[in-house]
Amino acid sequence: MAARKKLLLLPGDGIGPEVMREVKRVIDWLDRKRGVTFEIEEDLVGGASLDARGTPLADTTLALAKAADAVLFGAVGGPAWDGMGFDRRPELAILSLRRELGLFANLRPAMVYDPLVGASPLKPEIVRGLDIMIVRESTGGIYFGSPRGIETLPDGQRRGVNTEVYTTHEIERVGRVAFDLARKRGRVVASVEKSNVMESGLLWRQTITALRDAEYSDVTLTHILADNCAMQLVRNPRQFDVIVTSNLFGDLLSDLAAMLTGSLGMLPSATLGAVQGDGKQHALYEPIHGSAPDIAGRGVANPLAQILSFAMLLRYSLGMEDVAVEIERAIVRVLSNGLRTADIMSTGAARVGTGVMGEAVLRELDKAPG
Ligand code: NAD
Repeated sequence: MAARKKLLLLPGDGIGPEVMREVKRVIDWLDRKRGVTFEIEEDLVGGASLDARGTPLADTTLALAKAADAVLFGAVGGPAWDGMGFDRRPELAILSLRRELGLFANLRPAMVYDPLVGASPLKPEIVRGLDIMIVRESTGGIYFGSPRGIETLPDGQRRGVNTEVYTTHEIERVGRVAFDLARKRGRVVASVEKSNVMESGLLWRQTITALRDAEYSDVTLTHILADNCAMQLVRNPRQFDVIVTSNLFGDLLSDLAAMLTGSLGMLPSATLGAVQGDGKQHALYEPIHGSAPDIAGRGVANPLAQILSFAMLLRYSLGMEDVAVEIERAIVRVLSNGLRTADIMSTGAARVGTGVMGEAVLRELDKAPG
C-alpha cells in the first residue's frame, strides 16, 4: 500500500481556524466515505504563533512544512499584532514559508461559478463561464532585485530605487509551470511583460518563446503587453486560458482578475516550488482572502475558498483530480441550491453561516456516486 500523504494544516488567525474547520470535515468525510486517509499535522502560525512562541513561524513548524507533501494555510494577521515591529509581523510567516520552501510559482485561478455570475461587477455576458489561471512568478523581479533603497543625492533630493531583474532560469521554471498547466486545460498560454520598454521584459519574451518552441510545441503561445492585458481582462476576459507573468505584473493582474469574480470568499490559490530529485515538490495552498478580523468569531465567514484551496491541493500535489472535481462540483450544487454566506448574498437566496455552508458541501458530496 502507498504511504499516506502528509498534510500540514496551518489555520492561523481570525477566520482562518473557522474556515479550516470546514476543510477538516471534508478530510474526515474522505476518510470515512472514500477510504482516502491522510497523515495530518496541525500547527500555529502568524499571530497565534507570535503569542504562544514569540515568532510568527517556529523552526519546528517550518520543519513540519518541509516534511509535508503539501501545506494548507488559512490566513494570518489582525489588529492585535498591527503595532508590532516589521520583523515581528504575523504576515512574515507566509514570506518565510515561501522563501524556505522555494515556492516560486503562484497560481491564482479566477472562476465565475454560474450561480454567482451576478456577483461580478461586470455584465453577465462578459464573465459567464470565466475560468482563467494566472501564474505569477513570486520570488524574483522588482520586489527582490538589487540595487534597492532610498538615498540622498548631493543636491539634497532623495531617490528611491528598485530593480526588475530576471534570469533565464527563473523565467524558464515559471514558464514550465504555466505550460504544464495549459496542457491540462485549454493549451493556450498568454505571456505578459513590457518588452517594448523593459529589457527584462524582452528577455522574458525571448525565453518563454524559446521554451515553448523547444518543449511545448503542442501549446499555443501568445504575447501581450501588461497594460493591454489589464484592459483585455476587463473587456473580454474569457479570451484567456493561462497567463504567465512576473511578480509585479502578476500582483496587479491577479487582483484585477479576482475582482472579475466579485467574491473574495470564493478564491483559492497555490504556490509551488520546483520538482526535486526525489520527485517531491513543495507546495502551499491558501485562500486569497485575509484573516477578516471584522467578522472573526461570528461564524459567518465563507469557507468555500479554503475548501477550494484544499481541492487544488488534491489536484496539484496529490494527483487526485477525481476527488478535486467531486468537491468542486459539490460546491457548485450548493450554490445552485441557493445557499449563500453573507459575502456572496443575493436577493432570494438563503443566508447561512460557516458551519451550515460546510455541512451543505458534505451533504452534496454524500449524493455523489462513490
Ligand atoms: P481580508 O481579506 O481579511 O478582508 C477583506 C474584506 O473581505 C473584509 O470585509 C472581510 O470581512 C471580507 N472577507 C474576507 N474573507 C472572507 C470570507 N472568507 N468570508 C466572508 N467575508 C470575507 O483583508 P484585510 O481586511 O485587508 O486584512 C485583514 C488582515 O488579514 C490583515 O492583518 C492583513 O494583513 C491580513 N491578510 C492576510 C493574508 C494572508 O494570510 N494570506 C492575506 C491578506 C490579508
